[in-house]
Amino acid sequence: MSFESLGLAPALLRALAEQGYANPTPIQAGAIPLVLEGHDLLAAAQTGTGKTAAFALPLLQKLSTGRETQTRRPRALILTPTRELAAQVNDNLRDYGKHIRVSTTTIFGGVSMGPQMQALRRGVDVVIATPGRLIDHMQQRSVDLSGVEVLVLDEADRMLDMGFLPALKRILSALPRQRQTLLFSATFAPPIKALAMQFMHEPREVSVTPANTVATTVSHHVHPVDAAKKRDLLLHMLSQDSRRQTLVFSRTKHGADKLVRFLEVGGLRAAAIHGNKSQNARTRALSDFKNGRVTVLVATDIAARGIDIDQLPIVINFDLPMVAEDYVHRIGRTGRAGAEGLAVSLVSHDESGLLRDIRRLLKQEIAIAEVPGYEPSHPLRLDAGAPRPVQGQRQPRPARTPSHRPHGHAQQGNTERASEGNRKRRPRRRNPAAKA
Ligand code: AMP
Repeated sequence: MSFESLGLAPALLRALAEQGYANPTPIQAGAIPLVLEGHDLLAAAQTGTGKTAAFALPLLQKLSTGRETQTRRPRALILTPTRELAAQVNDNLRDYGKHIRVSTTTIFGGVSMGPQMQALRRGVDVVIATPGRLIDHMQQRSVDLSGVEVLVLDEADRMLDMGFLPALKRILSALPRQRQTLLFSATFAPPIKALAMQFMHEPREVSVTPANTVATTVSHHVHPVDAAKKRDLLLHMLSQDSRRQTLVFSRTKHGADKLVRFLEVGGLRAAAIHGNKSQNARTRALSDFKNGRVTVLVATDIAARGIDIDQLPIVINFDLPMVAEDYVHRIGRTGRAGAEGLAVSLVSHDESGLLRDIRRLLKQEIAIAEVPGYEPSHPLRLDAGAPRPVQGQRQPRPARTPSHRPHGHAQQGNTERASEGNRKRRPRRRNPAAKA
């Protein structure tokens, strides 16, 4: 299948060719014709599947060929859970729309409202916003949403998980009833369906990846290691190829900062990205990582949403996420767009329960391999199935029973929260999509 056959305009096809995209991904092939036909769309697709272009391309086409209006009101609104994702979507829209006349702007917290107000006052076709800051603008009457023809809810499951449901409802009530709504989510769990039932009109469904699966392009495994030795093992791994771009996940903001200091002392160029950093610092860390000025980016889960780095070869989980679904999101940062990726998790004895949760969610074993010199003094406690060795690595010890709940890091506090200002975040659930 080709992009031409999806009915996209020549100006968009030209931009896609310049991006080096040869063929549409499955979500693009499924979604683009439906959106161009004007249907509401419920799309199940994870990051890394090409979902942004799946809504951005038909959206740009509609806006470029739609009726000429004198109005300066936004004609499309894209809501994202995080600032980084908003910025990423904006970049993508600009890349795909470089040969058409459609203007875009981002609206998110952590930066001053003034320039955002000016951009809105000048008039803009597409607003890409996080819910909290958009509500601030609604309260200040600096944004008029009454002209919105297309609404996109990107990573809707994550927005619900971050407690944005009341904000979403408020924003939705300010939009015209007559509009096209596109909802993208990693899952179609009941709260997503409920949202769709309430706010969408006979949506068509497209689903390309079964929920909670790891892309076949990503190979992932675990190094069991004592918690106290993790930093040294990380430094050891990173030092083997200090030019390789590596994204490291830390569960806590404080932990991310400490890790960066440790790696810098070890001679590596590292930066942290998390919700306690100013927006400028976050943007700088990301661009330094993207352009190779730093080779190690240490991120917390929330801040990592929207991090889209071409050809990122490896993701390392310095510690496991508290919510098993986040494992899929984390390692989905590598192996994108058909490239090969590697994801390695450093797992200590006290994280055995978290690893079991991940295996249960994925319904698959994860290969376990000790690294010589870093063998743990306490083995991981895994219920079922003998772990498979990783090629070229030492044979793992057999898994042991019985199971126990994780502790230790889980109680450390200062875990990453929704990046929108000081918003209070609901306690994270085991299955974030189980309840609205
Ligand atoms: P997304 O799922 O939107 O975050 O996109 C994941 C990555 O795939 C991004 O780096 C895109 O630039 C890239 N991408 C999107 N569509 C295509 C395509 N049709 N061919 C190749 N790469 C693509």
